[in-house]
Order: sequence, then C-alpha cells, then structure tokens
Amino acid sequence: MTGEHSLNEKQRPDLSGETSGLGLVTVFTGNGKGKTSAALGVVLRAAGHGLRVHIIYFMKGDFPYGERQALSRLDNVDISHFGHETFVDPANVRPEEIAEARRGLEKAREVLRSGDYDVVVLDEINVAVAWKLLDLESVLELLRNRPPDVELLLTGRYAVTELMEAADLVTEMVNIKHPYDRGILSRKGIDY
Ligand code: ATP
Ligand code: MG
Repeated sequence: MTGEHSLNEKQRPDLSGETSGLGLVTVFTGNGKGKTSAALGVVLRAAGHGLRVHIIYFMKGDFPYGERQALSRLDNVDISHFGHETFVDPANVRPEEIAEARRGLEKAREVLRSGDYDVVVLDEINVAVAWKLLDLESVLELLRNRPPDVELLLTGRYAVTELMEAADLVTEMVNIKHPYDRGILSRKGIDY
C-alpha cells in the first residue's frame, strides 16, 4: 500500500524519553497552502523537545513573519534568510537573486557541517531549484553529504522529481480552495 497507513499499522510512539531516529528528509510541496506552516509545526514539536533547530528561508527578505518573531524568543531555534522582499519573477531571475540563493545554500552546508543542529528547514528551496536560482545537483549533493542524524525539511511548490526521490517523506498540498481566489489577500497572523 503506497501513501496510506491503516490504523493498526500505526506504531506506538517511543515514549522512552530520548528523541531518536532523526535523519530523514521531508519534502512539503504542491499548490495548496500549508507547506511552510507544516514545516513550522514540526519545528514547534522539535523545539519543545529541546532539539536544536535552524530555519533557512530562501527567496525571502526581511519581512515581519509572525513565526520569526515567536521563534526568536526560543534559544534552541535559529533563523536566517536569503533573498529580497520583492517577488522573484521566474521568467526574469536577477543575478542578485541567484547570488542570495547560493549564499543560502552555503549557509545550509555550514549549518549541517557544524553539528550544532538536529533539525534544519530549507524553506522555499524547492522553488529556488525549480526556477534555477540553485542547480539541482548542488542541492542533491547537500542531501547526500548531510550528517546522518540531522532531520531535513524542504518546502516549496514545484519540487522536482529528483528531490522527491531523494526524500523519505513527501506530502503534496493540493489546492482545493483558497480565499485569495476571491480577493482575500494575505492576513497577518494567519498567512504570515
Ligand atoms: P503557508 O506559509 O501559509 O504555509 P505555503 O508555504 O504553502 O503557505 P507558499 O507557496 O510559500 O505557501 O506561498 C506563500 C504565500 O502564498 C502564503 O502567504 C500563502 O498563504 C499563500 N498561498 C499559498 N497557497 C496559495 C494558493 N493556492 N493561492 C493563493 N495563495 C496561496
Ligand atoms: Mg511557503
């Protein structure tokens, strides 16, 4: 059975005390809302159990996202962002946007190498690859060379097949309905 788990197949959680089994790769993709929110949900759990988390935002500037303000109060969660406040136009990617994305990837390598983190989120990296701000091979190489016990989460629409193949868990958010389609724009506290 692919993509489904029956209830009796569910494993009991390990309540022995130690967090264990880290080191898997998750991809949250698709056109529906909830990819970044889902990754932040994992961050919340990880942080609650004392795991050390680093979130790297790609293609995002210095914008007052609610999660950044909340998570900056936690001393086991670090955040960095690479990009500008303006949206990237996939038909006309600017050199400085590519440069920022590359700096973000270099930061990701550094964060993984450091041994200082248990969970690393690469937010919107799927889009950065799909729109060729980053080359796929350099991201696959990052996945291959990661320390075996660091949990990695990749978010963003348009995840390419190779990234999904390299992952252990892939969820596609499907857009059934979105208030944006009837003119309701991003809401503070809900969408950012
Ligand atoms: P969120 O950050 O709310 O979890 P997301 O990560 O799934 O959303 P992105 O692809 O990163 O969504 O899109 C960024 C912004 O676009 C978010 O503010 C989100 O609410 C909004 N958005 C997401 N899906 C849709 C959609 N299907 N139509 C319009 N806007 C959307
Ligand atoms: Mg997102």
